[in-house]
This record gives sequence, structure tokens and C-alpha cells, in this order.
Amino acid sequence: MTKPHKFSRKKSIFAIGPRLKSRPDTINTDKTIAMPDILDTGIQFLPGVGPRRAALLGKELGIETYRDMLYTFPFRYVDRSNVMNIADLEPTMAYVQIKATVTTKKVIGERRKSRLVVTVRDGTGSLDLVFFQGIKWMDGKIRAGDTYIIFGKPSVFNGEINMVHPELEPPTAKSFPYGSSMTGVYPSTEKLKNAGITNKVFSKLVSALYGITEKLIEENIPPGLAAKCSLVPRREALKSIHFPPDMASLHSAEYRLKFEELFFLQLSLLKQRYNRMHDTAGIKMPSVGPAFNTCYKALPFDLTGAQKKVIREIRDDMKSGRQMNRLLQGDVGSGKTLVAVLSALIAVGNGYQACIMAPTEVLAVQHFNSLKKLLAPLSPDDWTDNDSGRGFGIALLTGSSKARQRRMIDEGLRSGKIRLIVGTHALIEDNVEFRALGLAVIDEQHRFGVAQRSKLWNKTGGTPPHVLVMTATPIPRTLAMTLYGDLEVSVIDELPPGRKPVRTIHATETKRAAMYNFIRGQIAAGRQVFIVYPLIFESEKMDYANLEKGYEAVTEAFPFPRYRTAIVHGKQSSEEKSRNMKAFAEGRADILVATSVIEVGVDVPNATVMVIESAERFGLSQLHQLRGRVGRGSQDSYCILMTDFRISRESKKRIDLMCSTEDGFTLAEEDMKMRGPGDIEGTMQSGLPVQLKIASLGKDGELLEFARKTAREVLSADPGLELKANFPLRKELSRFRDSVTDYSKIS
Ligand code: ADP
Ligand code: MG
Repeated sequence: MTKPHKFSRKKSIFAIGPRLKSRPDTINTDKTIAMPDILDTGIQFLPGVGPRRAALLGKELGIETYRDMLYTFPFRYVDRSNVMNIADLEPTMAYVQIKATVTTKKVIGERRKSRLVVTVRDGTGSLDLVFFQGIKWMDGKIRAGDTYIIFGKPSVFNGEINMVHPELEPPTAKSFPYGSSMTGVYPSTEKLKNAGITNKVFSKLVSALYGITEKLIEENIPPGLAAKCSLVPRREALKSIHFPPDMASLHSAEYRLKFEELFFLQLSLLKQRYNRMHDTAGIKMPSVGPAFNTCYKALPFDLTGAQKKVIREIRDDMKSGRQMNRLLQGDVGSGKTLVAVLSALIAVGNGYQACIMAPTEVLAVQHFNSLKKLLAPLSPDDWTDNDSGRGFGIALLTGSSKARQRRMIDEGLRSGKIRLIVGTHALIEDNVEFRALGLAVIDEQHRFGVAQRSKLWNKTGGTPPHVLVMTATPIPRTLAMTLYGDLEVSVIDELPPGRKPVRTIHATETKRAAMYNFIRGQIAAGRQVFIVYPLIFESEKMDYANLEKGYEAVTEAFPFPRYRTAIVHGKQSSEEKSRNMKAFAEGRADILVATSVIEVGVDVPNATVMVIESAERFGLSQLHQLRGRVGRGSQDSYCILMTDFRISRESKKRIDLMCSTEDGFTLAEEDMKMRGPGDIEGTMQSGLPVQLKIASLGKDGELLEFARKTAREVLSADPGLELKANFPLRKELSRFRDSVTDYSKIS
């Protein structure tokens, strides 16, 4: 190469929030890294691109370097040997190929709005090809009477099938690049097409790029490892993925590239974890302390086996001298709160402070109440929640804490008098400082952004606190491995005994009267009922109107004073919300009408019916969370999913699944298959550490596990990747890390 290489470093798309404390990274100082890699060349230097197209490629497809383009893969292929008949075309078809002869061509319409219509015919029928752009050029190129191979997507106009902006080639066109027999269809946008970067052009650019880089593409997986994992060489894989000579080569290319992607992701995550275990000192908490023991012994029930197992894991972490970074997963109602509070008592017992952060005020209050209940067996001299000065202080801090209270809390935390605090986001505000924070528990962690969570980490000057993040959103295994590959994961996979299954029923409007009657029966038997309306983020006003109408309908069907109905929604002040929630929790209301604010955590064992209105509007995980609000007591419980008479097939599938299983993990896996991990990721407000280009978390679970196992084997044999054979890994990893969020600092 004679052309000077311009290196452009891709910005991390996940650079959310402040950069956390970085630690010296042995890999980045490695000499091998200094060597330029042709794949880092800016895409504008590729012949045929230039600055204008480069800017567009960057903006539309995120392609900034040679690597980016080489790693932009076709999402579909069209078999060149498969030529369709015009008569067989249907508007639902994807890209197809036909071979046809031009009968007429004409330009229709006025200057600006003109279009070129080319009518072609094969032995089976005729078809219009329509061009809105580049008319003159096209017109000059296409000749009546000539035959072309036409490549495009059938669409419908005025009831007739046509093709808009297809690509034409003479049937005698030279052979396809690299002996391929299939045309890759690449991601594109309207803007790219308008700028002349059609699929054909893009494909040509890739072909030129491959020609330039082929000899210089370095292998990034050591040969021994590649052989063991049956991987084709990187060069070959990149060639076949773009220009597959046959299906078999395409499949081995896909396999290799998917493996590569997942393997480096896992290698990176596991390496971070390895570094953390070795580098990050944690606060040593040698004993559980008297408060833990007393409260534990006084529990009115036995812990489940799973709770015991998890507490043991946490306890081992906390006394290890290394920092704990643990994710606790447990289905709704599995008893995570108790685990959190007991862990907090370990920190307190060792002379440190602990905090428990919840996403909503309602939940924070609930946790605070659980905490007080748990502490009850202690003597009054041991703890206090007022300013009496005795024992260790506990406190509740939320957005509605009054200024005077807040000042006292701030001070108590700084002096160390308050040892255990429960709160909302208020806990991560800047003026909150701890004297010696030993444990931070974050409940329903997906409700908090990464940046928010990271703030807690920095709340103490010295050794970072142990961190326990809890989630009731059952994250599918594959996603958890990717999102939290470097965290220890504990799972509570067992519900407390005595829980009865929740019967789930699907009903439409015609059954409303019957449903109301059923509710009356339950209330007459002393039970309580939730009625939930969907929340659509786009229009708060509409949600509210929805809810208000619902509330009116409910109070009409269940008139006061015979029935007492409370309402909770996002527009209320937090006091009002708490007041109404409390009325329901204490049995002073029979029915709670709410938006999905009650989705997480709320615990009212006497509630036996959960009615979900417009259930088709909720995702599976959300429905499952809502259903988890009932079935907590010893009574039979019900979940009634109300939907329109007519719902989409997708919605029907979700509802049917809900009616057929109560297992959160099964539902989460199904949810991911149906919606794709991107969506789930969105609802989790977190985001994958990298964007996967070819592998799919929903479909490539097995390969992910294999990649992870392989990564673990490599690291256990050579934790620092210092062996000569592992140099390629080291190099790739250092490049890779630039674009990966460091999840070891997740909290
Ligand atoms: P989640 O995991 O959804 O946060 P909670 O911590 O709110 O669940 O617990 C749900 C309910 O189960 C609470 O009422 C709690 O007191 C109760 N509970 C927790 N652990 C046990 C247990 N081992 N045996 C019986 N009930 C339990
Ligand atoms: Mg909870």
C-alpha cells in the first residue's frame, strides 16, 4: 500500500455517563498494539468513496473504517442461479431476480415529478420498472429490445405489481466477484440510495475493499484454537460472507464470524472479571455480627433453600477481601428483599454502613417497613429510627423527605451515625456522602441507568463498597451472560412454600359483566383486587384519560360505600400516591385502580385478583411482573387478561403463553425470541456492551455458551494472555475494549 493510512478510532456508542475510575491496563501498553492495522483505515480512502460518501456511510450505517465496512454483512442473499418468472411474482416477496426484455420505456409527468417507466416482458408476463431518480442516465442506458437480468423487490402500484429502482445488468455480465453465486443484500437507507449507493454499488465497494485488504487481514484467533473450534480462517470467512460460492461456505463463514464476535465479547468480559478479582480490594467483613444472628433466628419462617444458598454466596464474597459485584436474579415473590436486608445487616455488624436503593418511593417505603419488621426482635438499644441517639441509626430518604429531615440524614450519613438507609434516587444526589459505605444494594436494577448506578460506587473515598444488584426481570440466560458476563450471578430459583398457582384467564369485552360479578364475589369473601391500565409513554394525556374513564367505569360498577376504590397513577404527588397505596395495602380499599406504576415489588398478600385491561398492550415480562402481585397469600388467586375481541396474532401468542405458564424464565426466553433482545435491552435501560453484528442472542444461545466456555479455558490456561500463541487475542481484545462498556463498574 502506498496510500497513507488515516486512522480513525471509533467512539464507543455506549459512552454513557462519566468515565469511571480506570485502572492501568497491561494489554494497552503492549508493543504489538502500536502496529497499524489496515482495517483501521478511514473509509473515505477507499477508491470510489471519498469524503462525501464517507460522511453518508458513517451517518447512515455507522461505517467509518475499512473494518466497519468489511464487518457490514449482507442480511440476505439472492441466489444468482434462481431466475423467477414474472407471472410468479408477488408483492410480499423479498428481492428477486428476473430475466426480461424491454418492450417500451417512457418518461411520465412534469420535470420535478417525472418518472421513467420501463416495461419489460418475459415468456410469462410483463412488468413495469419505475425510476424516480437518475432518469436521464437510466433512460440513456436502457435500450428497447434488449434483455436484462433485473434484480429488485416486487411492490404494488394501482393494483399492479411493479419494481421501483431495480438494478439491471446485461445477462452476459462478467462473472461475479470471487466466484460467488449469490448476491448479498446489504442494509441500506433511502438517503444512501438517493446518493447512488445502491446495493450493487455497495457490493462493488466491498469487493474492492476486500481486494485491497485481503493479503493484510490478520488472523485474530490462534491457529490451534481455530482448529479446535472448527473455524475457517478469518480471510476466507470474510470473503465467503460477502461473496459466497455456495451454501456450505456461507455457513462456515457465518459460524466463524458469529463465534469470533461472541468469543471476544466473552473474553473481554471474563478478563475484566479476572482483573477485578485480582485487582480490586474489597472491604473485609469477617463475621456476620450479632444483629444478623438475632434477626435471622427470629424470622417467623424458614428461609427457602435458594435464599440460604444466596446468602451464603454473599457472605463468602463479603468476607473474602475482594469486592463483591453480584447480580441477584429471582422471580417476583421469591423473597429478594429479605436477602437484601440480611446482607445489609452483615455490613452493619462489621461496623460499616449499608444502603438499599429502590426505583420508586412506594417500594422504598415498603422496604423500609420490611426492615423495621425484621429489626423488631433486636433490643431498643440496638437501633433507632429517630434522633434519640441510641444504637445504630436507620433512615428513609426519598424525594419527599422534608428539608430538615434531609439535613439530619445527610449529617447522620457523614458522621456514620446512620448505618442503614433505604431510599430512592435521592440517595445518589451529590450532597449524600457516606462515612464508610460497606454495601450498596440496588433493587430492580434495570430501572436505573448505568450512570446513575455508577454514582453509588463513588460515594465513599476509600475502598469501594460491595455491590448487590437485584432484578425480578428474569433475564434470559444468554442475555445475562452477555450483559453481566463479568458479574457473579446468584439465582433464587425457588418460591417460598405455600404459594398457590395463579389461574390466568383471557377474557374479552363480552365477559366483562361476568368478570365484575367474579370480583364482587372475591370482595365479599374479604379479598382485594388490582385493576391495571396500560401506560403508553407517547401520550401521558391519553393514558390519563384512559385511566380516568376506567376509574369511572369501575366506581360505577362498584359503588361506594359498599365498595371502596383507590387510585394510583403517575400524575399524583408522591404523598397522594403513598396514601392511596397504603390504604390498599392496609385493607382500607377493596379495589386498586392503577397504571403500571405498581408493576414492581408491591406486596399485598390479601389481594387475589389482578385484572389487566388492554392486556395486548403489555409485553410478556411486564404481564408477568403484574401477575406476580397476586398469589402471595394462602388464597386462590386469579389473573384476568382483558383484551379487545380482535387482537394481532402476536398479542394472542403472548396472552396464550401467559395462560399456559407461570415460569418467569420460560416467559423471558419466549419474549426475547418474539421481540428480539434489542427490545428487552431497551426496557432494561441498560444496553448490550457491544452491538452484535451477526450473532443473535435469541438464536445463537448454544454458540454463545460454547464461546464462553472456550474463552474461560483460554483464560484459565493463560490469565494475562501472555503466551506468544495468544498475541492475536491480546491484540484483538485491546481493540475490542475500546468499544465495550466496562460492566465491571456497572454499579
Ligand atoms: P421479591 O423477590 O419479589 O422482591 P419479596 O422480597 O417482596 O419478593 O417477598 C415476597 C413475600 O414473600 C414477602 O411477603 C416476604 O415476606 C415473603 N417471604 C420471603 N421469604 C420467605 C420465606 N422464606 N418463607 C415465606 N415467606 C417469605
Ligand atoms: Mg422486590
